[in-house]
Amino acid sequence: MYQYVPHIFINNEWLKSKTGSTFETINPATGTVITEIQQGSKQDIDLAVEAAVEAFKFGSVWRRIDASERGRLLNKLADLIERDAPYIASLETLDNGKPYRDSYSIDVLGSIKVLRYMAGWSDKNHGRTIPMDGPYFCYTRHEPVGVCGQIIPWNFPLLMMAWKIGPALTTGNTVVLKPAEQTPLTALYVAQLIKEAGFPPGVVNVVPGFGDAGAALVENTKVDKVAFTGSTEVGKKIQEASGKFNLKRTTLELGGKSPNIILADVDIEKAVEAAHFGVFFNQGQVCCAGSRTFVEDSIYDEFVERSVERAKKRRVGNPFHSETEQGPQVDETQMNKILSLIKDGVNDGAKLLVGGERHGNEGYFVKPTVFADVEDHHIIAKEEIFGPVQQLLRFKDLDELIERANNTNYGLASAIFSRDIDKINYLVQGIKAGTVWVNTYNVLSPQSPFGGYKDSGHGREMGQYGINQYTEVKCVITAIPQKNS
Ligand code: ADP
Repeated sequence: MYQYVPHIFINNEWLKSKTGSTFETINPATGTVITEIQQGSKQDIDLAVEAAVEAFKFGSVWRRIDASERGRLLNKLADLIERDAPYIASLETLDNGKPYRDSYSIDVLGSIKVLRYMAGWSDKNHGRTIPMDGPYFCYTRHEPVGVCGQIIPWNFPLLMMAWKIGPALTTGNTVVLKPAEQTPLTALYVAQLIKEAGFPPGVVNVVPGFGDAGAALVENTKVDKVAFTGSTEVGKKIQEASGKFNLKRTTLELGGKSPNIILADVDIEKAVEAAHFGVFFNQGQVCCAGSRTFVEDSIYDEFVERSVERAKKRRVGNPFHSETEQGPQVDETQMNKILSLIKDGVNDGAKLLVGGERHGNEGYFVKPTVFADVEDHHIIAKEEIFGPVQQLLRFKDLDELIERANNTNYGLASAIFSRDIDKINYLVQGIKAGTVWVNTYNVLSPQSPFGGYKDSGHGREMGQYGINQYTEVKCVITAIPQKNS
């Protein structure tokens, strides 16, 4: 295990920021400072990009190694994360506030799985030979895009790092990663492991900082691609800036207001539990959270009653306690934003049945909150809350439901709970979202693609679809003396 270095990681070295600025990272369970981090800004980003450009140069060590070796390095990184798993999970809980049992089993173990899955692709993402017209030999090469700027959020800091660097490295790109300012700790620890695994200098660079550092990355013309996960608001800025300087490739995974549809034929107990998990998991800080739960009229009242009972039982508290289900929100800003949206819900006339306020007076905890009688025009039915707040809406007719479910600028995820296969298939086709879960929620895996329709972004991450976003297709056409079939 390493002595923790809260510096900027460029060329496998630890540097202080060019401006001399630092920022504090806070433990959201107590509101106290954990440590000071070197704050990257444009100059540091530009230096990191230079390192990534150098590492990607034609003929560089990284460009010349076997594809299988890239996979071996990623597997080695996965092994090192596994070796230090309890330490990394503790860092994540300290910095982000999520329960340790989730940090360990979901974030850390999930990241290891992603890296191993991606490692397997390194020597398998091959091009094709194509029987083109004329006396020619035609083949395609799947080449790395180049220098990838990767900007990640604070809700799954380590996992989002794995989602970003995994596909970029297995396909041979180089990376400048900017973690979120709220949660820089695990990314910096993993940077140390990247060096230990043996990745050549400059292949992965990690620059902690704020939005200005992210913007500098997007504006740097030597960056070939930007991959971003975060808010739709910032995603739109990134899309614009990505096209303004050089035409960067972008993949954007943004916000959501996902419909979770419960039909009357379900096992209510199971559906209540799944809908509860669908919205409360990770303190509600999940872009694909089932934040509009549509429940069929005939079971609505019972569903509301049981959902309230379940929310009352939710164990909120110290994220290091093994029985804790819900820790603090990531910071004070997020907590206040959630509390303000709860007020909007009350003002709009939705029925607040449980929660609705801060939990305790230390740290940034919010009580599990359930609203019933939510209507489509209410602010809480339209805006992403990103907190432990459940909205229960009533529906009667399936066609009307499809229209209502799609009546949002977002299109990230959705779910249907039912035993009626015809209704399920009808809804699957009608819903505009990148994911439809059937009789389950929040199930993601390294093998299956994830991403959004509409303002939830574009491009897909994970699976083969995700790999494709990190390669350019080069078509090579060679004249041959004579064609033979
Ligand atoms: P949230 O609202 O959930 O905090 P953001 O979209 O603001 O999410 O932040 C996600 C990531 O984007 C963070 O790493 C943040 O520093 C970065 N970021 C914020 N503003 C910009 C910007 N204008 N350009 C690039 N990155 C940014």
